Amino acid sequence: MKNDLEEFINKKYKSVPITEKESFNFTCAEKCWGTCCREHHVGLLQLSVYDVYKLLEKRTDLPTLDLIQVKIEEDSNLPRAYIKWNEKSECPNLDENGACMVYMERPFTCRIFPLEAKFMIDDSSHKVSINYCVKEKVCFGFHKEANPIEQKLESFLDTPDFENHLQFEEKEVSLRDKWIKEYRLKELSNQQVHMLAQVLYCLKDKVVGKNTYFFDMYSEMLKIPKRTKRLESFKAYELATLALEEFTPRLLKKFKSK
Ligand code: SF4
Ligand code: SF4
Repeated sequence: MKNDLEEFINKKYKSVPITEKESFNFTCAEKCWGTCCREHHVGLLQLSVYDVYKLLEKRTDLPTLDLIQVKIEEDSNLPRAYIKWNEKSECPNLDENGACMVYMERPFTCRIFPLEAKFMIDDSSHKVSINYCVKEKVCFGFHKEANPIEQKLESFLDTPDFENHLQFEEKEVSLRDKWIKEYRLKELSNQQVHMLAQVLYCLKDKVVGKNTYFFDMYSEMLKIPKRTKRLESFKAYELATLALEEFTPRLLKKFKSK
């Protein structure tokens, strides 16, 4: 017979909206050893551009394509990067002791777990607002055995570098919305979508041809000054800004003018 804990963990979680002044009962339980990074509860994590670079910067031991997976969103035809789960259905950033190797740089989705963020865009002002939900009972940290404590939303989110992450998430969300409205993305060819993924994430391993570097290829094509530094030497936020504000808009304009 299943015990109370097993039943609790196997229950499908509920996503409940929460406002800034509200609280929830949760504690990240050491005993649990990071099932959030292993089990199907979280699934593939959505990354912002900023997170992609941070991960690549940290994990130079793995080829980019073992760490990052780019999928094409069905409804928008825009590429979106995810952490690529390994063959054991685990995040490749987990070490053998179950700890996150990129903890200080972990993606936004991991930072706010067990919360879920929903970004909303006001059609007239284009302002991005954010609503949070608690994924109730998603993990052991909610169970009475873990001794959960009261967490206020505002203090739970008050972690180092959180504002910086949020800023990049908001920028990406609002630009993606603008591109969807402005361009006929559904009409892009497969080759064009592939190029879009390359510039949106500056994925050096995805550039065709062993001796072709990202900046050499795209700076010339998009008439953007060539950077003398290699991708590896840029700070994550610099690359994210280049990708979101220079390379991607120019490539989309180029496709439109064809
Ligand atoms: S308690 Fe929850 S958030 Fe903490 S490690 Fe376990 S599954 Fe992850
Ligand atoms: S990046 Fe770190 S926190 Fe996020 S799923 Fe992977 S191991 Fe877990």
